[in-house]
Amino acid sequence: MAQEEIVDIFVIGGGINGCGIARDAVGRGFSVVLAEMDDLASGTSSRATKLIHGGLRYLEYYEFRLVREALIEREVLWATAPHIIHPMRFVLPYHPGGVRPAWLLRLGLFLYDHLGGRKRLPATATLDMRTDPAAEPLKPLFTKAFEYSDCSVDDARFVVLNARDAADRGAVIRTRTKVVAARRDHACWTVTLENVVTGARDEVRARLLVNAAGPWVDKVLQGVEGDRDLHNIRLVQGSHIVIRRKFDGPRSYFFQNNDKRIIFAIPYEDDFTMIGTTDRDYHGDPANVVISEEEIDYLCEAASEYFREPVRREDIVWTFSGVRPLYDDGATEAQAATRDYVLKEDASKGSAPLISVFGGKLTTARKLAEHMLEKIEHQLGKRGAPWTHQAKLPGGDFAVEAFAAESEKLHRDYPFLTEAHARRLFKLYGTRSRVLLGEARKLEDLGRHFGADLYEAELRYLIDHEWARSAEDVLWRRTKLGLRLSAAEARQLQDFFATVPVA
Ligand SMILES: Cc1cc2nc3c(=O)[nH]c(=O)nc-3n(C[C@H](O)[C@H](O)[C@H](O)COP(=O)(O)OP(=O)(O)OC[C@H]3O[C@@H](n4cnc5c(N)ncnc54)[C@H](O)[C@@H]3O)c2cc1C
Repeated sequence: MAQEEIVDIFVIGGGINGCGIARDAVGRGFSVVLAEMDDLASGTSSRATKLIHGGLRYLEYYEFRLVREALIEREVLWATAPHIIHPMRFVLPYHPGGVRPAWLLRLGLFLYDHLGGRKRLPATATLDMRTDPAAEPLKPLFTKAFEYSDCSVDDARFVVLNARDAADRGAVIRTRTKVVAARRDHACWTVTLENVVTGARDEVRARLLVNAAGPWVDKVLQGVEGDRDLHNIRLVQGSHIVIRRKFDGPRSYFFQNNDKRIIFAIPYEDDFTMIGTTDRDYHGDPANVVISEEEIDYLCEAASEYFREPVRREDIVWTFSGVRPLYDDGATEAQAATRDYVLKEDASKGSAPLISVFGGKLTTARKLAEHMLEKIEHQLGKRGAPWTHQAKLPGGDFAVEAFAAESEKLHRDYPFLTEAHARRLFKLYGTRSRVLLGEARKLEDLGRHFGADLYEAELRYLIDHEWARSAEDVLWRRTKLGLRLSAAEARQLQDFFATVPVA
């Protein structure tokens, strides 16, 4: 891009909010540049519980606006990305004298079913835990449970698909590119960028700046000339543990702990169970967040209250931890801080606007982008109508009911793949698996083997189409093959990235 050119919108941050805003904006006809200082989704957006959910728990905090918007979004998003979003049933066991009375749970789930948007997802049911298979892995504590619907999502891929779609529509997406300064000259921003690999610097000029830096949002404001409002967010750490599969079947569990917190136990990547999350204030650098010893103990102990077989530290195969960038509403407890989002505009007359994002969820990111576009269009003039509610994300151009049939079709067309390999590819890339596999007719056509079912063709696709630049990008964000490759295989992948020329 020529330096003298002025783009309409510059977006700081390649998490779900930045990528969602960039996608919506470019689709309406704005010119957009987005900078992400690390990998796409390397911040909070790959460290979530991975649910597209209304947030049953938020009803207790009277967050009706948020819950209604999120409930409606479940089916909207599922339809736009049926390869990475899947319906899931949640078993919520209860017993008399538990932390919440049955009538309260029933009321919450009634609202959940009826607040809005549920057309395809099945309604809440009551389970008899004396006979239902859902009781099998659990201690015999419960005679009843509720079973309700939400969806699971591949969070990191949700981000990268938004970025891919934005780029396909003309946005410039620059990863490993840090915004180190932003200077306002009346009607225009000059943004200074640093390539974090080479140290090279350049500048981009833009009419409007969007600060979607997640946990770093206040830090970015600090670096922007003249802005001194620095205490907008509350950082709340949340961690998960992943263990070998603890129970069979596709349903998840929603357990209510005695401290009134809840934890999920979710079937994960076929052979694993994901357990989380915690909620505690965080004061360090968001880039360094890791699960603490206390959180590991807490999650193991909380899950062991319910499962017949205890969850032990030695069962853990992976952990991940993230920081929620919550809007600071002054709530006393971390778990009570609002999960809703706030968009704050700094646009005194005649000067180039800056709009910052505080809070939000993966689930509400598409709506957040629409609200952001209202503000942007107020500043830059209207360009186009909202469009993302019906637009498929890359690879998601098939009907929601057709996931199994489409995955089988991929296997039929590439019979040299195992069924599990074809399914894994379809779950990640949907119809774009065919771009990845291309003319391959036998396994050897996929190139070098890196372990599990990872071949060079997939790496080339990830480098060329999805900004993958390191082994970690591939193993923990574009895929979850980090759970399956040995340490030696992961090192070989690192060596591959050290030699491969990437832009
Ligand atoms: C434990 C946990 C569980 C959660 N579970 C769910 C869930 O199940 N469902 C749900 O809907 N939501 C969930 N969330 C919330 C959701 O993950 C977050 O709201 C969302 O990911 C925030 O996205 P973001 O784009 O605002 O921030 P981020 O994903 O953190 O993105 C911000 C990006 O900005 C970049 N950046 C920062 N400074 C600069 C700079 N100077 N230059 C360039 N780039 C910069 C960062 O590197 C980062 O990638 C969960 C969150 C946590 C922590």
